[in-house]
Amino acid sequence: MPISPWRALSPDDGDHYLLVERRFRYVIEDPEHTWRRAWIPTVIACPVCEADTGLRLAYKSGVDAVVEAACPVGHTWVEGRVDVLQWMAYCRFRAGRHEADWLWLIEAGFGEEPPPPIDLVEEVGKAAVDVAKYGRRKARAKIRRKVRSTKKRVGKRVRNEAMRPVAALLRTAWIMQAGGVEPITASRRPAKPKAPKTPPVSAYRKAYGVQAPKKGPKCLVCQDTGRMTAPGISVPCVECDGPAAAALAAAERRAERARQGKHERPTERARQGDDERRTTSK
Ligand SMILES: [Zn+2]
Ligand SMILES: [Zn+2]
Repeated sequence: MPISPWRALSPDDGDHYLLVERRFRYVIEDPEHTWRRAWIPTVIACPVCEADTGLRLAYKSGVDAVVEAACPVGHTWVEGRVDVLQWMAYCRFRAGRHEADWLWLIEAGFGEEPPPPIDLVEEVGKAAVDVAKYGRRKARAKIRRKVRSTKKRVGKRVRNEAMRPVAALLRTAWIMQAGGVEPITASRRPAKPKAPKTPPVSAYRKAYGVQAPKKGPKCLVCQDTGRMTAPGISVPCVECDGPAAAALAAAERRAERARQGKHERPTERARQGDDERRTTSK
């Protein structure tokens, strides 16, 4: 029975009809695999003319017993190798219903072959020729306007000017192919000279023999004595825990750093002490 070419895909109405432009594959179970089901996708073709593209496949629920096929020339045959249940599931998939139960079928390779990957290099090559022609024409016009006498040099410049957009295009294509982001290309101009580094204040102090300003007490209430005193009164400081506690806390911090494996760096106070000792020894 010939398949009428105007039948539309409508799985809900029982019309499981598709025109597959690329090759169509059904799957057969791989007998070599005993512990796990594996499938071998197999291409179908017209038994008369061996056409394997542009085939039409049809199955009408309640009417047909098997999937029927037709090639572009008009040969029709009963395609018993395509499982009816799988064909109907594939038609539902093509109609936009992705059923979890049938995902394995698509993964196994059942259905129309995927389109070939776009050959980016070839496409770009064609585009590059067009761009080069256009660029060359433009560059020629530009240069002809400017100079007519120095013909030899102009020829070279024409080539360079024409190839510049091509080079940019190829670079972009290469990056697209690599799936990456355009790297930041170093500019041809030399980098601006860096401003001279300003030495730290301590260097100036050292050079001019200026003493670093002394730090005031940490606790302004008790001047780091730990006690608040007034004529006739001496009570523990309410703002800090006193010098003994501060020393303990500092020791604890140092110990903690040592436990974490960090190197002990000389504290500001110790360095100041060094400076003082050095200046006094002179
Ligand atoms: Zn045929
Ligand atoms: Zn205090």
